[in-house]
Amino acid sequence: MHDFHYKGGELFCEEVSIQHIVEQVGTPCYIYSHRTIHRHFHAFDGAFQDIPHIIAYAMKANSNIAILKLLAKEGSGVDIVSGGELFRALKAEVPSNKMVFAGVGKSPEEIRYALESDILMFNVESAGELQQINEVAKSIGLRARVALRINPDIDPQTHPYISTGLKKSKFGIAADQALNEFALASQLSHIEVVGVHCHIGSQLTQVAPFVDAIKKVLHLIQSLKAQGIDIRYMNIGGGLGITYSDETPPHPADLAAAISPLLQTTSCHIIMEPGRSIVGNAGILVTKVLYNKEGANKHFVIVDAAMNDLLRPSLYDAHHDIQPVLKNESAPVNTVDVVGPICESGDFLAKDRKMPQPQSGDLLAVMSAGAYGFTMASNYNSRPKTPEVLIKDDKMMVIRERETYEDLIRGESIPNIFS
Ligand SMILES: *Cc1c(COP(=O)(O)O)cnc(C)c1O
Repeated sequence: MHDFHYKGGELFCEEVSIQHIVEQVGTPCYIYSHRTIHRHFHAFDGAFQDIPHIIAYAMKANSNIAILKLLAKEGSGVDIVSGGELFRALKAEVPSNKMVFAGVGKSPEEIRYALESDILMFNVESAGELQQINEVAKSIGLRARVALRINPDIDPQTHPYISTGLKKSKFGIAADQALNEFALASQLSHIEVVGVHCHIGSQLTQVAPFVDAIKKVLHLIQSLKAQGIDIRYMNIGGGLGITYSDETPPHPADLAAAISPLLQTTSCHIIMEPGRSIVGNAGILVTKVLYNKEGANKHFVIVDAAMNDLLRPSLYDAHHDIQPVLKNESAPVNTVDVVGPICESGDFLAKDRKMPQPQSGDLLAVMSAGAYGFTMASNYNSRPKTPEVLIKDDKMMVIRERETYEDLIRGESIPNIFS
């Protein structure tokens, strides 16, 4: 569900016309709906209201500080994966006691920053990292709360690039080593073991993998208890899918119905880390058609957005619906490739897509671009990053300005060997 809809053949975000937004900020641009994000957060939070829980929004999905502020005001925490994300979350005044820190390669500097910010806990991914956290905590006289991330060896039935809970994955600690690692962790002087974490992948469209993973984690928590290690937090990760084209992922209420009975068997406080399901369908990327080009056996629609603005089609072969901002019922339907200006064959937004043939100057909306859209953007080909706009009812707010050419070279310098 989202709040992008047609009124008289014209695409709107909530009460604001997309054309109107483009007149103010140009193209390409990202547009987000406040209402959608708000509703999605509460769909999740409400579904688990009977269970003590923290929603730690996975901010790598969309980390604009205005979005973080919106969610923090509704009661959300964050799942961070870097010092930069911690900095953003602190700027948006997300309470640090609702922050968890994941990722396989936390540096000593990032660990220190997080300890000094008094985050709720680290989700630890290896024995080496555990040692490192212990040392950093010792050096500054603090004790680090940690959860160990378990790799439950569950196939989430999703794209291999976004599946993280299989044995062959770089994430987490193998289930059969877990008891051992927990025992070692509990001996470290500056570590307090408080939780078990698992996150098996992204864009899951079934509840069964969640159920299987949670069963394994509950079993582990039991075994730990028997060893005298009392676990207070159980983190079940994120990963709930969204509808990009014809997927029918479970609603958060369906997920809650499937897993609540399991969660109720533990006295642990539950942490969840949804990202995509909160913001994915709350955003679009708007682009302008530059040219139509006839290839040997393909028709190309060349637009002003590219893989540097939205990487998912190139990286995952992901499908994003593309809709006209102004409907034209008389346009013939054609099969086209929608491609960007970047000098890479992999630079496309859609391949072999049936759509009403757009003309040069037309605006297109790339749908479901709110998650892993702007956050994956780069400056490749020296393209300034797009602006981001937040819509609330009839109000439009620019929450990130378009980058300038000067921004592109900030911090660069020409050394004096050339003078
Ligand atoms: C990416 C990630 C998430 C969020 O995944 P979504 O599919 O966006 O919900 C949650 N937890 C961890 C550890 C992650 O790496």
